[in-house]
Amino acid sequence: MKHRKILMVVCDGVSDRPVKEHDGKTPLQVARKPAMDAVARNGVSGTMDVIAPGVVPGSDTAHLALFGYDPYRVYTGRGPIEAAGAGIALHKGDVAFRCNFAHVNDSMKVLDRRAGRIRSGTAALAQALTGMMLGDVEVIFKEGSEHRAVLVLRGPGLDHRVSEVDPHSESAVLEARALSSEAEKTARVLNEFVRRSNEVLSAHQVNTERAAEGLPSANIVLPRGAGSVSELTTLSERDGIRCAGVAGVTLVKGLCRLVGMETPDVRGATGGLDTDYGAKAEAALRLLDRNDLVFVNVKAPDIAGHDGDFRLKVQVIENIDAMLGTMLKDVHEEVLVVLTADHSTPVSVRDHSADPVPVSISGSDSRVDEVRLYDEMSAASGALGRMRGMDLMPIVLGMANRSSKFGA
Ligand code: ZN
Ligand code: ZN
Repeated sequence: MKHRKILMVVCDGVSDRPVKEHDGKTPLQVARKPAMDAVARNGVSGTMDVIAPGVVPGSDTAHLALFGYDPYRVYTGRGPIEAAGAGIALHKGDVAFRCNFAHVNDSMKVLDRRAGRIRSGTAALAQALTGMMLGDVEVIFKEGSEHRAVLVLRGPGLDHRVSEVDPHSESAVLEARALSSEAEKTARVLNEFVRRSNEVLSAHQVNTERAAEGLPSANIVLPRGAGSVSELTTLSERDGIRCAGVAGVTLVKGLCRLVGMETPDVRGATGGLDTDYGAKAEAALRLLDRNDLVFVNVKAPDIAGHDGDFRLKVQVIENIDAMLGTMLKDVHEEVLVVLTADHSTPVSVRDHSADPVPVSISGSDSRVDEVRLYDEMSAASGALGRMRGMDLMPIVLGMANRSSKFGA
């Protein structure tokens, strides 16, 4: 039995609801998309509740489910995903946070949560914090874009269940509290880190210079979104497959790294509307040579959905279709192609919704059902029926001859 390779294309938020002003059709039903339709026509389709019926997925929890993880078990907060996106290799037991550089006055009242959207000097500020020891806990700290940063606490006996320190408004910095008895040490260390960040950063040259220019100093770090990675095994440990991911947006990229995917930086892959589809297609095909599974995320449909822009969404779908067409032309016929979305972002809702998403899978010897078009309603009559996001990976691995026998 020959193992098949897998190409998984996730069109972020592409799934939609019918819009009255457009003949009661969805953007997928209006767009011209020969490549997507070919995947549906040559394979099997179905619909998918990415987390569970009636649950509105975030992109992070949705992708965990698509990669075959139970988001309710694995997802503890956004911190670890951001940290992985920033290139920090996380260890079991680490607690990670996403952070803001912020500006506080002498009585620790937050005057600017983003320190004037500070753009320069954050690398030097981060350098002054990283490596700090708080008892037996090591601080790993890295700047992100603008005022953003990530914090990883590494040491024995840590737990992510702590309350917020970021007041999310112009009020005093909050004291972190343990939300479980196991997290008392973490709350203590976190409060200590926040205090120390204020001491170290207040005296930093970057901030004396900012003050001289009349800019708000970035004199404190406010961590939030605590999470740990105690449960996560990588895809290669779990399924014995080598994986790579092509994604422009940091959140998805971080998630790919967290599950052990190789995630090269692809020039021009931005995670925005201006993303270079050709570069993405080329990178994906190159990665497919040395990997068993290549995952591609295209963020643009989600952006059009949030903007409530039907025509833009149609345009973006046609752009992705051209990218998919390029890939299908070069991809070996034995490769299993999986086309789906991580959630619906209906233009009428301008946000994610709980509506299930269409999924189509085709490959050389995959079953072929009656579905001819890749869209929400056509897929619903397909042979795959209705599944949960977590079921996708096992189904795909089975079709790719990569599952093992249960029993004799
Ligand atoms: Zn998404
Ligand atoms: Zn979104």
